[in-house]
Amino acid sequence: MKIGFIGLGVMGRPMAKNLLKAGHELYVYDVVSKGVEELAAAGATAVSSNKEVAANSDVVITMLPNSPHVKTVILGVNGVLEGRHEGMKIIDMSSIAPLVTKEVGQACAEAGVPMLEAPVSGGETGAINGTLALMCGGDKELFNEMLPVLNAMAGTITYCGGLGAGNTTKLVNQHILAVEIATVAEAFVMGAKAGVEPEVIYNAIKNGYAGSKVLDGKLAMAMDRDFRAGFRLDLHIKDLNNVLETGHALGTPMPLASLVMDEMKYMSANGCGSEDHSALMKYYEKIAGVELKRAEK
Ligand code: NAD
Repeated sequence: MKIGFIGLGVMGRPMAKNLLKAGHELYVYDVVSKGVEELAAAGATAVSSNKEVAANSDVVITMLPNSPHVKTVILGVNGVLEGRHEGMKIIDMSSIAPLVTKEVGQACAEAGVPMLEAPVSGGETGAINGTLALMCGGDKELFNEMLPVLNAMAGTITYCGGLGAGNTTKLVNQHILAVEIATVAEAFVMGAKAGVEPEVIYNAIKNGYAGSKVLDGKLAMAMDRDFRAGFRLDLHIKDLNNVLETGHALGTPMPLASLVMDEMKYMSANGCGSEDHSALMKYYEKIAGVELKRAEK
């Protein structure tokens, strides 16, 4: 199939490569040339605008930072809708505000272009291995039709409901993840300040109810003092912003998300915005004056 891929960042590059490996013909664009060059070297055709991607493709996939980028790329000047043609479909895989998904989907429908949302979790590793978890929203028939394309990038694919349901599900994931990183940091900093090695605590509790993928993956980053992203702290701030906006619009309580949002913003303002979101742990370390590093052997 002829597939267009727009947004060749940390996630988009490996996802696009997996589509190539699955035998699809790929047309790619990004405002930054690095990803485009990498995909062209892997066998994709580089074009010079989002409109041109659409003009060449049966299915256009977008993997962009946030809601405004998706609006610009799909609805904007020289954008995807300007390159539309009979039979073209859009899959937006970015994590954005559910209300914007509905708005963009409506504009696409009015232009005669069906749109599916399929935000992902699983990080860069999941993108490289083609094992991402997809949370899809939109027309069920369109979802079924797009499964062969989605399968090339995913390990788990869940149909969550109409447009907006996928990004709502993703926000639940991002909320839990943010609060869990903060909880691990708060508890382990207390333990370390009391004089117990973080690695000893980790090994003692990892197989009980407090064990989790966050504990395994994110605590290890703090213990190794390796905060290279991964998932950038600033992208998580973006997600929590969407969590808070959605919760406030619905009138649901959001005290934990608000608290962690402030802590993440503080760390971003102190130079950690481009680090992995596990850098949130440094907020707790800094106040307590301890680091969660491994003991020297
Ligand atoms: P990224 O910033 O690395 O990549 C986004 C790409 O979009 C960049 O290359 C950027 O140049 C491009 N872009 C921006 N505006 C554009 C435009 N107008 N036209 C064309 N290209 C444009 O981000 P990422 O880490 O790849 O994440 C993408 C999305 O996936 C985000 O919504 C993020 O929240 C979500 N996500 C990321 C991870 C992760 O671990 N990085 C995990 C799950 C979900």
